[in-house]
Amino acid sequence: MMRTYIKDLAAKVGEEVLIKGWVDIRRDQGKLIFLDFRDVTGVIQGVILPNAKEAHEVGSKLRSEWVVAVTGKVNKRPERNVQKDKLNGEIELEILNIEILNESVTPAIDVRGDGKDIGEDSRLKYRYLDLRRPRMQKNIINRYKLMKLTRDLFEKEGFTEIETPNMTASTPEGSRDFIVPSRLERGAFYALPQSPQQYKQLLMASGFEKYFQFARCYRDEDTRGDRQPEFTQMDLEMSFVEREDVMAINEKVLIELVKTLYPEKQIQQIPFPRLTYKEAMEKYGNDKPDIRTDKNNPNLLAFCWVVDFPFFEKADDGKWTFTHNPFSAPKPEFMNDLMEKKNIENILTTQYDITLNGYEIGGGSIRNHRGPALKKVFEVMGYEDERIEKNFGHMMRAFETGTPPHGGIAWGLDRFIMLLQNEPNIREVIAFAKTGEGKDLMMGAPTEVLPEQLRELGIEIKKKK
Ligand code: ASP
Repeated sequence: MMRTYIKDLAAKVGEEVLIKGWVDIRRDQGKLIFLDFRDVTGVIQGVILPNAKEAHEVGSKLRSEWVVAVTGKVNKRPERNVQKDKLNGEIELEILNIEILNESVTPAIDVRGDGKDIGEDSRLKYRYLDLRRPRMQKNIINRYKLMKLTRDLFEKEGFTEIETPNMTASTPEGSRDFIVPSRLERGAFYALPQSPQQYKQLLMASGFEKYFQFARCYRDEDTRGDRQPEFTQMDLEMSFVEREDVMAINEKVLIELVKTLYPEKQIQQIPFPRLTYKEAMEKYGNDKPDIRTDKNNPNLLAFCWVVDFPFFEKADDGKWTFTHNPFSAPKPEFMNDLMEKKNIENILTTQYDITLNGYEIGGGSIRNHRGPALKKVFEVMGYEDERIEKNFGHMMRAFETGTPPHGGIAWGLDRFIMLLQNEPNIREVIAFAKTGEGKDLMMGAPTEVLPEQLRELGIEIKKKK
C-alpha cells in the first residue's frame, strides 16, 4: 500500500490507508488505546479497538516518539467528538496494524508544546528534537517558502543568483573577521566573508548587471544578544541605477512577499514612508524607528526607509571612520567635498536602511564606481597609500576597466523571517542556531583540534594562564 500523508487523510473517509510517522502521544484506557500520530504534514488521532488483538498488543508498548507504520481505516468521528477548525478534527483512524520502525528513549526535552518553557541551552543541545515541534517546523518551512518566492520574484525581474567564495581575504566591514589558516601557505590565512560586498561589486564590473544571492555572512563580534556569528543575507547589486531604483525594486518585492505568504498581515503604509537619519533621531531617538501606530497588533508590519545618513563619524581614536559602508558613494551634491576632503562631518551618504517594527532588516547604497573617489574615502580615514593599494588595489583596477555605476542592498534574512513569524529572536528561525556566545551546543563547536592538525598548519597554542 502507498503511504498517505496525514494532511490528506480527510479525503479518504471509509478507506484503508497506510501512514508513517511518530507517536505523538499515547492515552491507554485499557480497552481502548488512543494514539496521536504525527508526520511532517500534521497530526491524526488513532484508536485501537478491543477486537484488534495484535494491534492492541503492539499499541500498549508504544511510547512517544517511537516511529511507526500504521494501517487503519479512516472514520468520521461521532458528532460529539468533532473538533472543528482543527486538522483532522472530524476524522479518526481506526488502527488495524502497527509496525514499529524504530523505538525512542524518553526524549530529553518535550517536543509537543511550543517549547517556550524549556531552557534554551537544552533546546539547542537537542535541536533535532526541538525542531520536531510544530512551531519550529513551521518557522523552518516558512523560511524556505520566503526564500523560494524571493528567488522567483528577483528572477522575474531579471536577476541572476551567483555564488561567491566563503574563503576569501580580510575586508573592512566594521567587524572582526573569522580566519582560516592555510596549510599550503603556512602563516597565511583566509577570512570568512562579512558580506559579499566586494565580490558583488566586481560582478558589476563583470557585466552581470543584476545579481542577487542568499549569502552566509560571518562576523566575529562580542556577544550581542540577538547576533549569530554566521547569518544569512539576501544580497543584491544592480548596475546603471540610482538610489530610487534600488529602493523601488526592493519595496516591490517586500510587498509581494508579505501579500502572498502572509495575507493575514497588514502593511501599515504603502509606499513605505521615509525618514532622514536626522528626522529619525529627533523624533524617535534612534535610526531604526518603530513607527507602528498599534504596537499590540502582531499582524501589523510598519516598514520604513531611513536615508541621508552621515558618511563619516569620529571613532574612539579621534580618526574618521565610515558609519555604514566604505564602498558607498556620497550623495551627488557632496562628491566635491569628498574629492577635496573638506566638510567631512557634513557629507551625507547614499546609504538607505530599511526598517521594520523597530528593527533594521536591510541596508545598502549607491557605490563609488570610480577609483579616485573610492580612494578618497580611505584617505579620509587616514589609510596610507600602500595600505589602500594592498587591500583595495583590485577594486581600483577593476574600476579602471569600465565599471558601470552601481548600487545594491542586503537584507538580514533571519531577522526579517523572525518578524514575519512573530518570534522574539533569530535563533527561532535558524535550524541549527548557536548560543549568544557563539557555541553550537549540539556539535560541541568550537572545539580543540588534534595536535597533528595544528602541526600541519604550523600553529602553536599558547595556553591561557
Ligand atoms: N554589504 C552591506 C552589508 O552587509 C550591504 C550593502 O551595502 O549592500 O551591510
